[in-house]
Amino acid sequence: SEEKSLNFIEEIVENDLNSGKYETLVTRFPPEPNGYLHIGHAKAICLNFGLTQKYGGYTNLRFDDTNPVTEKTEYVNSQQEDIKWLGFNWKNELYASDYFDELYSFAVKLIEKGLAYVDESSADEIAALKGTPTEPGKDSPYRNRSIEENLDIFTRMKNGEFADGDYILRAKIDMTSTNMLMRDPIIYRIKHAEHHRTGNKWCIYPMYDFAHGQSDSIENITHSICTLEYVSHRELYDWFIEKLEIFPSKQYEFARLNLTSTVMSKRKLLQLVNENLVNGWDDPRMPTISGLRRRGFTPKSIREFCERIGIAKRENLIELSLLEFCIREDLNKSANRVMAVLDPIKLIITNYEKGTEDLIGENNPEAEDGGGTRVIPFSKELWIEREDFMEVPAKKWFRLAPGANVRLKFAYIVKCEDFVKDENGNVTEVHCTYIPESKSGNDTSGINVKGTIHWVSAPHAKTAEIRLYDRLFTSETPDAEEGDFKDYLNAESLTVLPNAYIEPALADADLESRYQFIRKGYFCLDRDSTADKLVFNRTVTLKDTFKK
Ligand code: ATP
Ligand code: MG
Ligand code: MG
Repeated sequence: SEEKSLNFIEEIVENDLNSGKYETLVTRFPPEPNGYLHIGHAKAICLNFGLTQKYGGYTNLRFDDTNPVTEKTEYVNSQQEDIKWLGFNWKNELYASDYFDELYSFAVKLIEKGLAYVDESSADEIAALKGTPTEPGKDSPYRNRSIEENLDIFTRMKNGEFADGDYILRAKIDMTSTNMLMRDPIIYRIKHAEHHRTGNKWCIYPMYDFAHGQSDSIENITHSICTLEYVSHRELYDWFIEKLEIFPSKQYEFARLNLTSTVMSKRKLLQLVNENLVNGWDDPRMPTISGLRRRGFTPKSIREFCERIGIAKRENLIELSLLEFCIREDLNKSANRVMAVLDPIKLIITNYEKGTEDLIGENNPEAEDGGGTRVIPFSKELWIEREDFMEVPAKKWFRLAPGANVRLKFAYIVKCEDFVKDENGNVTEVHCTYIPESKSGNDTSGINVKGTIHWVSAPHAKTAEIRLYDRLFTSETPDAEEGDFKDYLNAESLTVLPNAYIEPALADADLESRYQFIRKGYFCLDRDSTADKLVFNRTVTLKDTFKK
């Protein structure tokens, strides 16, 4: 097989292991439990877990739960479920909140070293002294408070003596740094809020920059991989580790996944959920892992997608059609072919008098093991697609029309003799005769037909609701459009077909089963299904629109 070239992070890891800089590779996936994971997170998951699968060592799952207001246990649980479903296992389940005591003592240590101070300026005053990227900032009037006084106020902040916003703790670095993040960044703030794990134990919480690198260090993370927005945070990351004299974790940045026709920030996805613009986090139109799962994507197809997009140092925009290409490739090999009629009209075979005939259908000609066969009942009355009949046929029409022949898949050639319309002019029945010598696999009729259509035997059919999906947004880049991203939602992203007919074999479908509905696409059972009503989601159409 073809040797794949290493991505730049693999190169760094190989060098560090070969040089003996580290003996064991340790990575982490650090989601904030403030929403469900999305396909962008899948990229980071595949990268972090993929590295330790390849090079040994292990990956921690660390919940970055330092913001009590937005975090919930529901999200912790869903994030774990999604990572496992993708096929990865973490070594340790950890929480940044477990380090609150340690992080607090790190802050005390900085104060004691004269490297942090308590500021009581207002937010506006702090902003005014911050400067701009081209103009240096100015020192806060509280910057030279004594170590004793800093320790005293910081202790009282922790003890709950003050209100939100009265004081903050800042690192004492350099108000003239060209890196704005080095201009005495805030490291602790007062927030009287209940935390999903620590309850009301704390009323001060560390800022992201003060929690993340130190958490990495506490866990002996060797390669802390994050997205490009954090490039400018690296200097601060290294500064804390150096001044605290703790394990030297290193941060590396890669380009985040951007995907067309969707949005991927948890904050925006939460808006869609809260405003009922979709049916929950796992709505099959959502780019969440749970939405993709419900839509019928397989873990393998998502891992394959992440492999194909690769790891780069520059931002780019990936076409949604590449994701669809990956699921189509997987399902083409694994999904059984079955027949379902989504928009039915009756086809009556006037000369068929055999009652029920059991035909044999091939399950999957693409499967490596041949896929096996199943029994498909055939009878005088069938359901066919409305769109497979034309009263006045167009040019090059090879399907049903008055006088035309067509093959019924796995069955016989039929000839259209007549049709019936209702009072609104809609065709309701097509009457045909069949050619007994034309049975599939045993055809001695000598008749050639160009069209083959699918069908379901009417007395044997099960009814189903079918849900078809289209892009969630009409814009390829809803984030970049003028105005609100929600203005670009696609009003036609969901089409419900309430009265479809499916072959009886589909009554056994479970939530893990994937099917190709012949000529209609790949489908899976939806969890809304009941004993009386099966519901199927279309995962993806058959047609490949991805330009390779
Ligand atoms: P969002 O706002 O979209 O949820 P986030 O970065 O705030 O993104 P986190 O829960 O903090 O979400 O992310 C956990 C990990 O997943 C981080 O290491 C982050 O870099 C990574 N990640 C998030 N979004 C993407 C993306 N679109 N592509 C690649 N990695 C991502
Ligand atoms: Mg984050
Ligand atoms: Mg976020």
